[in-house]
Amino acid sequence: MRITVPEDTGRVRVVQAPAEGDIKLAILGDSVAPEHKQWFCFDAHGDVDKERVIILENAGETTYADALEQYSVCASYEPEGPDWFRVDTELRDGQLRVIHTPRSELVRYAYFAPYPRARRNRVIEEARQTGRARVRRLGKSIEGRGIDLLTFGSESDEAMKLWVIAQQHPGETMGAWFAEGLIGKFLSGEDPLVSALLEHARVNVIACMNPDGATMGNHRTNAAGKDLNRAWWEASDTESPEVLLVRKALYDSGVDFFLDVHGDEHTPYVFIAGAEGNPHYSDRIDALEDEFDNAMLEASSDFQTEEGYPKDSPGKGDLRCAGNYVGEVFDCLSLTLEMPFKDNDNAPDEERGWSPERSMKLAGDVVEAMASVLDVLR
Ligand SMILES: [Zn+2]
Repeated sequence: MRITVPEDTGRVRVVQAPAEGDIKLAILGDSVAPEHKQWFCFDAHGDVDKERVIILENAGETTYADALEQYSVCASYEPEGPDWFRVDTELRDGQLRVIHTPRSELVRYAYFAPYPRARRNRVIEEARQTGRARVRRLGKSIEGRGIDLLTFGSESDEAMKLWVIAQQHPGETMGAWFAEGLIGKFLSGEDPLVSALLEHARVNVIACMNPDGATMGNHRTNAAGKDLNRAWWEASDTESPEVLLVRKALYDSGVDFFLDVHGDEHTPYVFIAGAEGNPHYSDRIDALEDEFDNAMLEASSDFQTEEGYPKDSPGKGDLRCAGNYVGEVFDCLSLTLEMPFKDNDNAPDEERGWSPERSMKLAGDVVEAMASVLDVLR
């Protein structure tokens, strides 16, 4: 068997790849921030219908090593698409052992279904061609990749300004699939709920905040080793130009609603974190958060409010994080949405776990929830 590392999103080091017997690989840290170590993605080329064992031998040294309990590796025979499944995975003595009998010569394995750069470019171009999305390049990442803003809906000054951003953390690729689902929902002209929302609101979508990190196969950081979701308070044009560009676009537009989309390594549920730790958090924002939670419970069979992050103490919110920063500065409903790397344990899928398909469907549910709270946002 032969292991190769794809140019886009690929990341792993081959330790030992004998013609026969177990393959040994090592998970690598982020390109210039090796303290972040979780994402892996590689291709295996080998015999069909023959059981193989691939050992990720340093899994116990990853940043969220304990999150690999009850976790199964993702695999696909068509790695550019959304069709991914889980393979038998054992965590033993700090090693992650993947045991799989492939039905195809090429299999891509990854921490979660990667989102190809070419696919994003195609989705954005198709959105532009419908005439229903306005596409504006805000600027470029450190390595010169475009930070693109897609805008849907009303151009009126009176319109509510809704913002959704995804993939600040590049390894949280469920956010990228979510963004594709969101764009698809806004392009689905038949849906009266979407039409009503877009009549009164302008929805701004940043499908990928961190294109450099995503291409490099980083889990958490950009090309300068910055965790962008800790860069909002003091964004800089040398270390976090991606945040600086989007922050400026937010100031230019104004914000009535903000959603930052992420994935969580540990928690096997979909949940939302609010801005309760912000210095200027108020009863009004608290009530809006409750409204949105209730709208999500109504719209989505995957959403729940029992499990999630512990609440921040009053005044102790980290304003370097997008959700808190935007809530504090714009005094608006500002939320962080988390999807699981593993599965939704309230509705488990043995074969796929949490998946691109479910991430995209959740985006549609979020649009419904946005539509139902629109009247009370201002
Ligand atoms: Zn994240």
